Amino acid sequence: MKIGVLALQGDFEEHITVLRNLGANTSEVRLPEQLQDLDGLVIPGGESTTISRLLVRWQLIDPIRRRASEGMAIWGTCAGAILLAERAPDLDREGLRLMDIGVERNSFGRQVDSFEADVDVTGFAGPPFRAVFIRAPRITDVGGAATALAQLPDGAIVAAQQDRLLTTVFHPELTDDARFHQHFLALAANGAGARLPRQADTTDAVGQTA
Ligand code: GLN
Repeated sequence: MKIGVLALQGDFEEHITVLRNLGANTSEVRLPEQLQDLDGLVIPGGESTTISRLLVRWQLIDPIRRRASEGMAIWGTCAGAILLAERAPDLDREGLRLMDIGVERNSFGRQVDSFEADVDVTGFAGPPFRAVFIRAPRITDVGGAATALAQLPDGAIVAAQQDRLLTTVFHPELTDDARFHQHFLALAANGAGARLPRQADTTDAVGQTA
């Protein structure tokens, strides 16, 4: 199994460290051809506008969508979550728009730009997950194809999944708790060769019938 981490901008090195510590064969991704044999791709936190600009410049948008339709798992953290969302009205650039979720950028306000919270995650055994939020977006809505995995006490959705697409608006790569990385490795392992079903329509982002 091979996992790539998009290494255009943001904290990709931290993800690579965690994934390698878990024994995963992990590589940095900057070019379309580096997507070819991946079972999973991590899109790290950073600045979604910058990552979007670089995705366009390096002609990665359509190849990532195509690999997703072929079953490659994708996990977006924070800025990566914004890039995965179908609905990101305040991202004034091109996103991947693969997940049936809406997001609002920088949603937790300036005075709480960074904070930590314990969140219960659906399917995780053990204690709550200590989540680190850094100028995080909020998941404003989860459509029929996706499922919320974690919420803050006020109801804000902070993690979601749609088949082999995973999103967290916080940063699991900055804590010692590797449960999200393990979960993603399991998604990538189970997804080899499979297709991503879409409920909302019959045509996916690369124009293939779902
Ligand atoms: N605020 C950033 C954005 O809108 C995301 C921050 C992060 O990834 N930690 O892209």
